Amino acid sequence: MSKQHEMHEIRALFRQKEIKATLARIIVYQVLKQVAQGLTAYEIEKISIEKGQRINLATIYATLNILLQKGLAQRYKVLTAQAVYCLNSAPCALLIICSNCKSLQMCHDDALQMSIQQYCTRTVLTLKEFRLTLNVEYCLHCHNRISLST
Ligand SMILES: [Zn+2]
Repeated sequence: MSKQHEMHEIRALFRQKEIKATLARIIVYQVLKQVAQGLTAYEIEKISIEKGQRINLATIYATLNILLQKGLAQRYKVLTAQAVYCLNSAPCALLIICSNCKSLQMCHDDALQMSIQQYCTRTVLTLKEFRLTLNVEYCLHCHNRISLST
């Protein structure tokens, strides 16, 4: 999808949901859409800087709240970890909670989604969505840090 076309679609969606389409809001939505995984507000800020469109955290939080209120996004929070946000249209997701750094990460896996789908078909369940939580000793970041330091 072209950038222009995507912008146009987001604007149309915002109009439909009665959200004022400011540039900052469109960018936050775009970032969430493009990564197709859950992000913390800090990660959204970092990506917006990389895109050359710095958005301050207060604006990001305000935008995320609007997206939550309008039913366009979901928020996940576990214990003291930073909350992660994803779009409602995002595919079924895996939530990974790291015991070591206490972070919460969200990702997606096609093979896993297929297995869950097959399970549902077998048991005559109609799957709408799933969120699977994995409690791990070390997340990928921690793992990389450990293997780098040894
Ligand atoms: Zn970790």
